[in-house]
Amino acid sequence: MTMQMDLSFGARKFPVDVTFSACKRLSVTVHPDLRITAKAPAGYEPEILRQWLKKRSSWIARQIDYFERFQPLPTERKFISGETHYYLGRQYRLRIRSGEITRVRLIGRFFEMELSDTGNREKIRAIMLDWYTAHAKDLLSRRLAQYIPTFERMGAAVPEVRFRRMKKRWGSCSSGGVIMLNTELVKAPIHCIDYVILHELSHLLFLNHDRKFYRLLGRVLPDWEKRKERLEKVII
Ligand SMILES: [Zn+2]
Repeated sequence: MTMQMDLSFGARKFPVDVTFSACKRLSVTVHPDLRITAKAPAGYEPEILRQWLKKRSSWIARQIDYFERFQPLPTERKFISGETHYYLGRQYRLRIRSGEITRVRLIGRFFEMELSDTGNREKIRAIMLDWYTAHAKDLLSRRLAQYIPTFERMGAAVPEVRFRRMKKRWGSCSSGGVIMLNTELVKAPIHCIDYVILHELSHLLFLNHDRKFYRLLGRVLPDWEKRKERLEKVII
């Protein structure tokens, strides 16, 4: 049996999806996509469960804050010459020139784009997006390949990795061991990219953000907090 419970904490309201099943004890989980789920033994008194959850509401609020902070800060782009775009945490100016071949290259501090139709912003946008996606897939794959063996030695299965452009998340890891990485990460500094990768790889061994998870993350990346702080300021 399932039910939804609205938990209030100060002025905030958290909907909790509760499942009553054959489990023996109460548990609550805040997921990276901001869903909150709870489990209780079948026949458990909902009001007592509500009291139990209420005692944990400040922890739930903290988890929600943590995940919300973990989201990228997007900027509106016009795709015109002189505009700033980011790659590996550095700023590059977009320079659009007329040319026979359509191409984009990083030259010095410039994103130099050549195309015949220099006024076609939609096309420029699409070319930039392709460039970022290709570079993201290549770079993220290489960083993953570097770190995965460490986690394999600790007993993790080799994850299935998918790349996608996401608005709300830098990355995620499912209970089935599928890691999803945001291709926009390639706009962040490399030490922040590594933080996201090691964070998600740590979830292969510990799915929740519990003590064991942070102990592992602290071991594989002792300065992860500094990197996370920097990541929170990344503009894409
Ligand atoms: Zn996480």
